[in-house]
Amino acid sequence: MVCMDIKTDSLVSFFSLWGYGFSDLINSTTDRAFSFSDLLQSYSSQNIPLLEQTFSGMNKLSFEEKKEAINKLKNLTIDVNSGKYNSSKQLINDITTTFQLGEDNKRILENAYESYKKFYDLNKKTILQSVSTLSSSYEKNGLYDYFEKMYAFFQVDKSKKTNLYLHHFPSIMLDTGSSTKDCIHQNISIDKNEPKDHYLNNSCILTRRMFTPVHELGHFLFENSESASDIANNPDSSAHKVFKHLENYFASKNKKNPNRFAYAIIHEAFADSCSGFFKEKQDESFNLLNLPKINSNFAEVDSLIHVVYPIYKQHMKENKPISDDFFKQVLESPLFQNNFKNLASTAQIASAKFDGRN
Ligand SMILES: [Zn+2]
Repeated sequence: MVCMDIKTDSLVSFFSLWGYGFSDLINSTTDRAFSFSDLLQSYSSQNIPLLEQTFSGMNKLSFEEKKEAINKLKNLTIDVNSGKYNSSKQLINDITTTFQLGEDNKRILENAYESYKKFYDLNKKTILQSVSTLSSSYEKNGLYDYFEKMYAFFQVDKSKKTNLYLHHFPSIMLDTGSSTKDCIHQNISIDKNEPKDHYLNNSCILTRRMFTPVHELGHFLFENSESASDIANNPDSSAHKVFKHLENYFASKNKKNPNRFAYAIIHEAFADSCSGFFKEKQDESFNLLNLPKINSNFAEVDSLIHVVYPIYKQHMKENKPISDDFFKQVLESPLFQNNFKNLASTAQIASAKFDGRN
C-alpha cells in the first residue's frame, strides 16, 4: 500500500499562489526565498491579472488582526487541501467574504483564476505527465519503500494517507515545497533564472526535485507524531525538555518569538535528516554533515542537525521508532549542550540591548 498519492489540481494550485502572496504580506517578519513582487511578476508574465488590489490594506493590519487573518488562512487552507471545494466560484466567494475583500476584488480574483486555468489547461498534458513520471521515478528509486520506513519511524499509521500536490506556476518558482498537517505540496515550476522553455517536457526538473517530497513528508509526519504533541502537552517528556532548552537559548539571544524558533528548528532538523539519509543511501559519497550549509533558513538548524542526524541514522539502521529515548540522547549529547549554551544571564541580555548588539 502506497501511503502517498501524487495529485495536481488547478484550484489547489491557484489557491496556493494566492496564499503565498497573502501570507507574505501579512507575515512581514518571515524571511523567505520568494517575495510578493516575484508573485506579481509571475502573474504578469502570463497575462494573469495582478492580484495586488486583493491584498491592498492587508499589510496595514494590526498585530491582532494579522494573527486573526493567519488563523483564517490556516482554516481555509485545510478546507482547500481536503478537497472541500470543487468550484472556483465557491472558493472565491469564501475568500472574499472571509477576508472582506469586496465585490471589485472578487472580480479580480475570478479573472485571475480564469487566466490561471487557461495556463493550466494549455499545459495539462505536460502537467499530467509530470505526475506519472514522478510517480514511476519514486517507485524506481525506492522512495515509496523509504516513505513507509519514515511512517514507521514517526509511528504514524499508514491509514493517515498523504496527498502530494504538484504545483505548476507560470514561469517562476516561488518555493520548493511546503507541508500542512493534512498534505504536502511541491512546486514543479522552473527556477526563476532558467529559460522559459525548460518548463515543458523537462524531466531533469522532476528528478532534481526528488528530495523535496522526502523533506516535506518529514515535516508532515513529525507534525502528526506523538513527539509533536509531547512538545506541546507533556512537560515531563524529553521532547518537551529539548524544546524548552532551545526556547531558552533563543530567548537568551533576544529572539522575539523564541518558542516559534525552537519548534521550527526541531521540525527542520527532522525533515533534513529524513532527506539526508535517503540521499546517503543513493550516493555513498554523500554526507549530510559535510555540507557547508545544510539548511539555508538559519544557522541554528545546522547546529541541531549535527546532533539529531546521527541519532536518526542509528534509529533507521536498527528500525527503531522515535521515542522518549531519542530526545533523551539529544539532551545528553555534549554537542547539543555546547551548540546551545544558555549562558546569557538576564543582566547580559539587558546590556546587549543597550549596546545595540544582539
Ligand atoms: Zn523544511
